[in-house]
Amino acid sequence: MFPPGSRNLPFGAHRYARLRATARVRDRPLLVVPRHFSELELQARWFAGDFGREFTSTAGEKLEVVQFGVWNRAAGPDFSDAAVRVNGGETVRGSIEFDLADQSWEAHGHSTNPAFDHTILHVFVNARADAFFSRTSAHRNVPQVRVDPTALPAAFEMSLPLARPGRCHAPLRDLPEEKIGSILDAASQFRLARKAQRIGRLAEIHGVEAALFQELAAALGYRQNKLPFTLLAQRLPLPALRVAPDETEAILFGVAGFLEAADLRQFEPGTRSYLRGLWDKWWPQRSSLERLILSARTWRLGGSRPLNHPQRRLAALAAIAAEWPRLLRSLGKDELSAVRERFRHCSHPYWDHHYTLTSSGSARPRALIGETRVTEILANVILPFRQWRGAEVWTQYKALPARLTNRPLETGAARLFGGDARRAQFLKTVAHQQGLLQIYEDFCLQDNSDCAQCPFPEQMQKWT
Ligand code: SF4
Repeated sequence: MFPPGSRNLPFGAHRYARLRATARVRDRPLLVVPRHFSELELQARWFAGDFGREFTSTAGEKLEVVQFGVWNRAAGPDFSDAAVRVNGGETVRGSIEFDLADQSWEAHGHSTNPAFDHTILHVFVNARADAFFSRTSAHRNVPQVRVDPTALPAAFEMSLPLARPGRCHAPLRDLPEEKIGSILDAASQFRLARKAQRIGRLAEIHGVEAALFQELAAALGYRQNKLPFTLLAQRLPLPALRVAPDETEAILFGVAGFLEAADLRQFEPGTRSYLRGLWDKWWPQRSSLERLILSARTWRLGGSRPLNHPQRRLAALAAIAAEWPRLLRSLGKDELSAVRERFRHCSHPYWDHHYTLTSSGSARPRALIGETRVTEILANVILPFRQWRGAEVWTQYKALPARLTNRPLETGAARLFGGDARRAQFLKTVAHQQGLLQIYEDFCLQDNSDCAQCPFPEQMQKWT
């Protein structure tokens, strides 16, 4: 159930895994969504290894992705410098193209474009009924793999139904607080183990530091902008960013697409001078990175608090890249205070005093990475990372206070606890919130019987 990185798993994670098995968790969730997957999101998730690395090709060959490569900056397939092995044979190096539909290969002219001649794998989601071959301009047949996004865990985004109390609400109401706490702990330990597993898989694919950087970027993206932040960290690997540290921020802003507007006159003088500095460093690089620039549509710029504006978070990512060696050293210390301190230490001469590019400067500095975000980063990145490295982290994890709530959490709480007066008490810590989310995903989102056939209420009664 849990591969390497789970050496020090608390007993509860295994207990919850057995409880979860009774729910016969399906490959395809039932309740979730008619979802629309953008090609960019799926490409990011392919690169993150969310689809796995072993496949059966459309021709029935066993195919292993040995190396996922890098996001391609030049004309040609989406990922270059990749490597695959077919039927356990020699490793073949080349590029990987990822499309929503198999026919895009023809429709986009890849079959006659020499830039695609070194493609070793064509990945797609939708296939037409009759056989379609992906051929290069030299008439070489490119192996094809079809992937199924509906089987992905909804990590980037999830659309959830509104809730009413479920069948488990009444028995839960009668259970003592310690017993409910123990179930939430176990589910939380299971979820933590899964996160550690995910980081381990990313590290295996891209290396430990790249995995950490990508996860930190995703955490800074929040829910709304997790995808563009992940894409940035995937497309701009940390070693490349750190070659010229004083250009890191300009490259991040440039590839994010935030330096495309030409007219700086609209900004106040301080902002103008900040942007001018970024521009001067970005423009000499722009042509070589042009293909990687994110379109404005990738971003969700509205709806978040000004303090959490993505541009401010991007400056925080640049500050993390600058702090990188010290951050790594702090990760080696047992106490969380050292790593906390590193995030608190991240600062910026412009963004410490601005919420957005259009807001007026404030004299009082505001933390670039606030306490709430630091706690989220500890819970979702640092402690899972340390667990994957073999550390015992549950004691620290359990002590993290909950600072945020969100719609899935509120929905899960409404279904399981209804109006139980202890509801707030159960959700005071990050650990319990995460445990509730796990139960909600494993049982509520798998249930298509209006609770009638959900095993959770009975299993929970047997929990000792
Ligand atoms: S589906 Fe199961 S866990 Fe969810 S509310 Fe119904 S009984 Fe409770």
